[in-house]
Amino acid sequence: MEQNLKSEKKSNILANYNLSELESFLLDIIKPKYRIKQIFDAILQAKDIDELNIPKEMITKLSENYILKPLKIHTVLKSKDGTKKYLLQLNDGNIFESVFLTQNYGNTICLSTQVGCRMGCSFCASTVKGLIRNLTAGEMLAAISIINADNGQKTERNFSNIVLMGSGEPLDNFDNVTKFLYLVTDKNGFNLSERNISLSTCGLVNKIYDLMKLKLNINLCISLHASTDEIRQKIMPVAKAYSINEIVKAVFDYAKYTKRRVILEYCLIKGVNDSFDDCERLVKLFKNVLCHFNVINLNPKDDKQSPVTKKSAYAFVQKLNDLGLSATLRRSQGSDIEGACGQLKVKFEQNDEKNSKK
Ligand code: SAH
Repeated sequence: MEQNLKSEKKSNILANYNLSELESFLLDIIKPKYRIKQIFDAILQAKDIDELNIPKEMITKLSENYILKPLKIHTVLKSKDGTKKYLLQLNDGNIFESVFLTQNYGNTICLSTQVGCRMGCSFCASTVKGLIRNLTAGEMLAAISIINADNGQKTERNFSNIVLMGSGEPLDNFDNVTKFLYLVTDKNGFNLSERNISLSTCGLVNKIYDLMKLKLNINLCISLHASTDEIRQKIMPVAKAYSINEIVKAVFDYAKYTKRRVILEYCLIKGVNDSFDDCERLVKLFKNVLCHFNVINLNPKDDKQSPVTKKSAYAFVQKLNDLGLSATLRRSQGSDIEGACGQLKVKFEQNDEKNSKK
């Protein structure tokens, strides 16, 4: 982290820094030291600058040079199952989404890593307008803080898991995402265990190896969604850059090096990747690899692609199990509030366009 601070251009977003980093440059304008801890706590509690209990002249200096809160809640939608979907607005006006899911074992925050996405997967709403920009580590932390504060005591951690499965490709924003991982697991901060964080990638193989070398105890998830390169290339442009065989090798190496099982995500699209032949090919590819298949039914973004029936989804998972692969069907939460990636934002923008045309 210290190295990061030296090598990169200093950001004015305070959430980009841990406590000792803040102390290293704020002491010029904020004294004594304990006030910097107050500022650090205020970041984690998503407080506004006028809620800081420090002398006015220090607040003025702070606000002239730095940003305490880089985003605000634009809209919240609550699903019947308790899932809450947030549209968060950054200071430059850009909007991205994040989801708060309540589960028996604790609450999960699904976080975006980019505004938009440039990966172009055919089934995903996040990528429709391409990549707008990367989120910085501090903006991702601020999103976690504001959602945490909106779901219980501000001074407590009200979630136990984070999944980087919102809009964007985490490994396409590698430095900011890994820095965010350090910030959110910081003992002085949210102190979240690495084991309770899942990072999902469309399979940027070279970046998977870079991540592997960091030896983090996070869960790596790879969006596979196909059993042949031909099918994968039709729905995921990234498949033209990396073959399935390269992914299989990366999963094997990652699991061996980190001793952690890799999750393969498989979204069922009717008539595209849902046959028992697909199951057989998947088993041939992955039978000797430490992995688990998370199968999910498509949450359609338009009428070009459809999900399979519930019965077929269960049959697909059962077939994988019968052939010896570890696989489960993931329940989709919040579909009544546009739960799938980027869908709420797309809906919002469509409505906004309609309204502005009125
Ligand atoms: N860029 C990362 C994170 C994306 S979102 C990645 O590709 O993994 C997390 C998961 O949701 C991915 O597996 C993605 O393929 C899946 N997903 C995207 N749109 C979906 C949809 N409409 N229905 C079901 N799953 C979807």
